[in-house]
Amino acid sequence: MKNTAEAVLFFDRVFDSVNGSRGGSAPGKMRGPVKEINGECKHLDFWKESIRVLQDLYYVDTNVGDRKRVPSVKNWITTLESFINLWVELKDMGVSFFYTRNLNQDPLENFFGRIRALNYRNVNPDPYSFICSFKSLLVTDVLGPHSPNSNCEEDMGEAIFNKGLMFEVHGAPASLPVAGPSREPRASPSPSLLQQAREETQNVRSSAFTAGFVSRQLIKKIPCTDCRKTMLTTEITDVHDWVTQRERRLLKGRNLKYPNTKFIILFRKLVTCINQYLEYHSHQKSVVKYIKVEFLKSADVSWLGCSQHCRELLDMFVSLVCRVQIHNWCNCINKIMKGSFLGKMSSSSMTPIQEIAFKKYTTLRVKK
Ligand SMILES: [Zn+2]
Repeated sequence: MKNTAEAVLFFDRVFDSVNGSRGGSAPGKMRGPVKEINGECKHLDFWKESIRVLQDLYYVDTNVGDRKRVPSVKNWITTLESFINLWVELKDMGVSFFYTRNLNQDPLENFFGRIRALNYRNVNPDPYSFICSFKSLLVTDVLGPHSPNSNCEEDMGEAIFNKGLMFEVHGAPASLPVAGPSREPRASPSPSLLQQAREETQNVRSSAFTAGFVSRQLIKKIPCTDCRKTMLTTEITDVHDWVTQRERRLLKGRNLKYPNTKFIILFRKLVTCINQYLEYHSHQKSVVKYIKVEFLKSADVSWLGCSQHCRELLDMFVSLVCRVQIHNWCNCINKIMKGSFLGKMSSSSMTPIQEIAFKKYTTLRVKK
């Protein structure tokens, strides 16, 4: 290799050749499948040639003037030899197209990354802690699957099973004291009643969880026992499952807050109000101010807080929930526009503005 450009081009072709995917081929590039045409296989010839090139490749240590071989080059030779052997095997088995990208191990690397990132970065887990980390990841799903700046691409992986199932009693949705959908009612009764009931169960639990967080923040700001009584309950029901499960880990059992039914209903009402308001007015100024006006038109808040703090508490409640929910709402729209939310949503459950975001994604996305 005479110059940098040549070296870069060579490695570009090597990378392409082991990253061939369906629909990925481009003229002059080796991004298509490994295949044989008239007894000739472009990939096979290229790989054999590349191995020769790599075997001749070495680095020069400018300090000493020594020739050095590095592990990555040696490993690339192994990789290409393995690809050749694999292709020969596959061809014998009657496979005529082989997409090399299907061997991509980045999802595995991402998964290991998540295991290692758990528990204050346990970088060298033994089998026991590996199993524990795996279980804990399944339940909490707290870590981002992909570290920024890593050399792995995002794998779009999703949890293999629905975590909500773990909180259900014998597969049947538990009866809940709280009613009222978190989103607007759906236009079509899909997918099934049971599925809807399950989703609703989860929605209520997640509301109880967030309402618990909100109540904790409010109590921190206004440490008044009378106010506290209006928001919390000592009666723990299955609605509080998430609070118990998740908070216990975070707070180690201390300072758990179980919001009462009234508070959860009020919280959900405000969330619905915020969602509905943003649906039509998200582009306007002073949204929080108008959300509060809308909210107070229909909600009964007379019971919230003691007589001394009720105004202050209500203001804090509205602004805190607004801060959390507006952020969520924007996040959700952004994710739809990025296309990373698709698996989790069906078009029947989208609100009009989410549909607009989805259309934007489908028309503007870079076609692969
Ligand atoms: Zn008070």
